[in-house]
Amino acid sequence: MSKNGSVSFGLTEEQVMIQQLARDFARNEIAPVAEHYDKSHEFPWPVIKKAQEMGLTAMSVPEDYGGLGLSLFEETLVAEELAWGCSGMSTAIGVNGLAFSPILIAGSDEQKKEYGGRMADGELAGYCATEPEAGSDVAGIKTTATKNGDHYILNGSKMFITGATVANYYTVFAYTDPSQRYNGMSCFIVDRDWEGVSVGKPFDKMGQHASDTAEVVFEDVKVPASHLLGQEGIGFMIAMKVFDRSRPPTAAGAVGVAQRALDESIQYAKERTTWGKPLWQHQVMGHMVADMAMQVEASRMLVWKAAWSVDAGERNTTAAAFAKAYAADACMKVTTDAVQVFGGYGYMSEYPVEKLMRDAKIFQIYEGTSQIQRNIVVRELFRK
Ligand SMILES: Cc1cc2nc3c(=O)[nH]c(=O)nc-3n(C[C@H](O)[C@H](O)[C@H](O)COP(=O)(O)OP(=O)(O)OC[C@H]3O[C@@H](n4cnc5c(N)ncnc54)[C@H](O)[C@@H]3O)c2cc1C
Repeated sequence: MSKNGSVSFGLTEEQVMIQQLARDFARNEIAPVAEHYDKSHEFPWPVIKKAQEMGLTAMSVPEDYGGLGLSLFEETLVAEELAWGCSGMSTAIGVNGLAFSPILIAGSDEQKKEYGGRMADGELAGYCATEPEAGSDVAGIKTTATKNGDHYILNGSKMFITGATVANYYTVFAYTDPSQRYNGMSCFIVDRDWEGVSVGKPFDKMGQHASDTAEVVFEDVKVPASHLLGQEGIGFMIAMKVFDRSRPPTAAGAVGVAQRALDESIQYAKERTTWGKPLWQHQVMGHMVADMAMQVEASRMLVWKAAWSVDAGERNTTAAAFAKAYAADACMKVTTDAVQVFGGYGYMSEYPVEKLMRDAKIFQIYEGTSQIQRNIVVRELFRK
């Protein structure tokens, strides 16, 4: 609903076109190779290269710097479609938008031009907030950046970093003044090839095998002061603003996975017969699929609202938490029910829903767990 009270659930012609392009890409380029990358755990370079040619790894980079300059709402349309094809690949593509967000929020024109331009030219990036002992509690990080003349000395290690092994640069959160806690954190752009930056081996994960996740260690890395985003002390605020932007497209990925599980379930429930009739005509199974469809649609609406609020310049912290928690939990439920619809075949990896259920779980964990989203909702409800 807009401020003047008008409501529209329709997409513009341009938005329909963007959605269709992403849909075609997911169906023609991603879905056919999803099983291969799930099984091989390789990084899907051929798909990423094609995505780069279409500008999909630089969706949020402003047009002035060579990117697509999409609105956040348009990004969520794309994210849902890509995740329908494979959420591992959509995460590998979408993480670039996450990594660019601190630059978009707090970067200078020069920083946007250089790093946005590099992304538009085919470089990849990673977002380094989480540490071995601090994930949900962002303020609990231990990485430090100590000022030394015209540069900072960065020390610390970052855990579970998506795209770590393939990124050309990272946005990194560190304390410039640990005694100030929330007001002592800052954010920097750090090039992967600088001395003292090292990257671990990709972790072996439950799902989303096409997306690589590894540890990044910074040991006495000399970071020029020109790579500080904004000013010292605003890092925590940047991280919170990033969440408001990044949660809607992440939640849209959950919608895409859930939609795929629903589509596969409808198809299977028409083909598979027991007691002489298709599965969907057994009321319990028909209702199960109906519940799946309701949850997919409700998730999508929350995601659209949360993204639209950002584009409209409204505070969307609660809306983003609603969308992220609801869509992630619904995705887990819908994919689990899809395995149920498929019966024994659903448990076999040669059928698509087994992968969907494994891939779904991460949506309840990254970009703030489902519990943390509820904490945010409680905080927002009771501070009024
Ligand atoms: C595949 C993958 C990719 C990732 N990619 C990135 C990335 O690119 N960049 C990045 O910075 N991070 C990334 N992460 C990290 C991710 O954001 C964190 O794992 C997540 O925020 C949870 O933090 P944690 O693992 O430390 O769990 P913890 O914070 O230790 O939480 C453990 C459990 O306790 C619950 N819990 C904790 N505190 C509370 C509380 N106060 N109230 C209620 N429940 C609570 C949590 O919900 C969770 O269930 C990634 C993680 C994974 C697994």
